[in-house]
Amino acid sequence: MTAPQVKGWCPGAYRPMMSGDGLIVRVRPKLGRVERGQLHGLCQLSTKYGNGLIDLTNRANIQLRGLKMADHDAVLQQLAALDLLDASHDLENRRNILIQPFWQTGDVTHRLATALTDRLAGLPDLPAKFGFAIDTGHNRLLNGASADIRIEGMSGQLIMRADGAQTGQIVSEEEAIDAMITLARWFADHAGPDVRRMRTLFDAAPVAAQDDPLQPQNTPYGQLVGLPFGQIEAAALEPLLDQITAVRLTPWRIMLLEEVADLTSEALITTPDHPLRRVDACPGAPFCDSAHVETRALARSLASHISGTLHVSGCAKGCARARPADITLVGRDGRFDIVRQGTAKDRPERTGILPADIHANLD
Ligand code: SF4
Repeated sequence: MTAPQVKGWCPGAYRPMMSGDGLIVRVRPKLGRVERGQLHGLCQLSTKYGNGLIDLTNRANIQLRGLKMADHDAVLQQLAALDLLDASHDLENRRNILIQPFWQTGDVTHRLATALTDRLAGLPDLPAKFGFAIDTGHNRLLNGASADIRIEGMSGQLIMRADGAQTGQIVSEEEAIDAMITLARWFADHAGPDVRRMRTLFDAAPVAAQDDPLQPQNTPYGQLVGLPFGQIEAAALEPLLDQITAVRLTPWRIMLLEEVADLTSEALITTPDHPLRRVDACPGAPFCDSAHVETRALARSLASHISGTLHVSGCAKGCARARPADITLVGRDGRFDIVRQGTAKDRPERTGILPADIHANLD
């Protein structure tokens, strides 16, 4: 793939993010949808410049990892040519919009998401993680996902809610985007070093951790499939693209394959009872600078031996899972501490277990 020059777009406007295994490039597809040609391009970029993997994040974004600084501009140029980048990093940062995945072209979810996307330039400066959720389908799906301003459907009405507020505001579709922008401006007027999220202004606790609302299955809109640890090898995705026209991304390590049913692949989780649906593991060593241990190979080896939920964390930060797991393994100085019925931050039951001895210590 050559690096075309994309008019009106400047690679220098995007700041590179460094991690233990090289640069990370985040891709925020419009409306959370990626078409076959874009998927093909992402596979090529990951194989040529990155670590050969495509990651799905808990903000329903895609990440390419393991890139070299020297290749950063070429990768961004090619993402722009695939229509996977905004004209500037600033605009891309503002387009932090979660959309429930079952929207149909022209329905209220699609109309609101498109209208908000078109009005991003009218938003004030907001903290990097500040985001929006458009959750106007038949069922609310995104209430456990991180967002600061939500618009939800309820009994045929639209309710706009500031995250953390006890009540919302009924709005018409015509009023909704103006109301969201007004609320964002109100937040910006009150934001500061200690106020980076809407919930803080309402003195609300962090969003309560909830089970994922979607599981692998066929649906009227296509097939929901899981990605182990939220990632897939580009080499495994490429051959599947003959059967996939587009995917919708979600925050739950699940993708909706539009108009697909009964697709099977060893790279995908296609049944809700697959052992890896119960397992979380962060990238660990050598991919994260903070990691004390390797995580995912161990998690795979343990998955089918553990009946409950398992979280393998490279350090006590516990990025991969905020809610408690039946067993949490926390990396520390090349060994693991074992927490039962808790999170990576909780008090361990055992400490200092070598990775090779973990199996024996979980019996
Ligand atoms: S939990 Fe620690 S090791 Fe794992 S990704 Fe987060 S910071 Fe890195």
